[in-house]
Amino acid sequence: ITVSDLVDASYKRIAAVEDKVKAFLTLDEEGARHTAKALDEQSGSSARGLLFGLPVGIKDNIVTEGLTTTCASQFLRNFNPVYDATVVTKLKKAQSVTIGKLNMDEFAMGGSNENSSFHPTYNPWNQEYVPGGSSGGSAAAVAAGEVFFSLGSDTGGSIRQPASYCGIVGLKPTYGLVSRFGLVAFASSLDQIGPLTKNVEDSAYLLQAIAGHDPMDSTSLNTDIPDYVSALTGDVKGLRVAVPKEYFGQGIDPKVKDAVLTALKVLEAQGAIVEEVSLPHSEYAVATYYLLASSEASSNLARFDGVRYGVRAENPKNLLDVYLKSRSEGFGDEVKRRIMLGTYALSSGYYDAYYLKAQKVRTLIKRDFDQVFEQYDVIIGPTVPTTAFKIGSQANDPLTMYLNDILTIPVNLAGVPAISVPCGFADGLPIGLQIIGKPLDESTVLRVAHAYE
Ligand code: GLN
Repeated sequence: ITVSDLVDASYKRIAAVEDKVKAFLTLDEEGARHTAKALDEQSGSSARGLLFGLPVGIKDNIVTEGLTTTCASQFLRNFNPVYDATVVTKLKKAQSVTIGKLNMDEFAMGGSNENSSFHPTYNPWNQEYVPGGSSGGSAAAVAAGEVFFSLGSDTGGSIRQPASYCGIVGLKPTYGLVSRFGLVAFASSLDQIGPLTKNVEDSAYLLQAIAGHDPMDSTSLNTDIPDYVSALTGDVKGLRVAVPKEYFGQGIDPKVKDAVLTALKVLEAQGAIVEEVSLPHSEYAVATYYLLASSEASSNLARFDGVRYGVRAENPKNLLDVYLKSRSEGFGDEVKRRIMLGTYALSSGYYDAYYLKAQKVRTLIKRDFDQVFEQYDVIIGPTVPTTAFKIGSQANDPLTMYLNDILTIPVNLAGVPAISVPCGFADGLPIGLQIIGKPLDESTVLRVAHAYE
């Protein structure tokens, strides 16, 4: 089998299902075939990269040189980056083949892909349902078999929630493990890039390829990268598993609860020790997140002024009007909502009451995790309290939409790693199991996920 065969298979599958799934915003068939040919010609003559010849999709908020990067926003519909994100450079070094750019909620704000300004993406298991978000295109493309794996980004759940809804594996690494250079910033203290894959082994390989220190990202950790693949021993004997009682509270679908409890029994049967714990500040996580993430977003998105990137509004009256018109026309409703909320929370007179208070609560949430990890190896619960919801059913209800992330958000606030692995179905829709680990202990997270899988 040649690399060109693999790329062929990927585009054949896309031709067959993309009409129904709509996972992609841009396809780069010419570029992919060119890369495939080059790899086939060198094949045999030199050492192969870790991901040699494998077709990959990339979320459209990760910049790719010469390949449109829109963040699913009208503002950037014509934006052609002049450089590659560090993760893209690393994928090239690992010799995977980029098939195209994947749909998402505009600027990664949302949990259903309905906030894409181009088109929604459909859940491959049932096209009346959302694929989740914001990395909904990344999850759907893998679930539908259009690419072997993909990259997404996770600020409050955007890798794990769509992975859960689409029945695949999604990993949010420790904050700082994967470079954010070239990831269009949403909330810089929370954003992390990570793998969406069909199984845990692929996740370990993809993480191996993208992790590591990057001088171009000042928050990148300078730490040794372990061998994630050899960590997949299948052994969980004596492993200490904490199950937070808060993660089974109000709003949880009984079928999700049953599936997670069954998964815990499976781990117990393999020798793990499962005990109930408390993460007492969990109930404040969503409020804390929406203040902090929106504050950071309002600051990060100030760069979109109609001058420096993307689309400039036509016929402005003066310079101020360039900014006002470009931003009014370029941003969608959810992005505007967050910019307004964030600007308010950061403004003088309100900063102490909202932004600063939220920072303090973030510390309390992180301490909850620190305390549990003094005695346990991993924390396990559901990824999302429910399965995927119907397209349109939450579109006009931002608060309900925000609550989808109630179990994923605390992980970003604490900066720790977590994976979502499939653990069953309810009414034909997948359920995800979330395994949360200590900082930089991706090896254990992957090992547990692999043993369960
Ligand atoms: N759904 C959450 C939000 O809308 C998380 C998004 C993300 O992780 N990028 O902010």
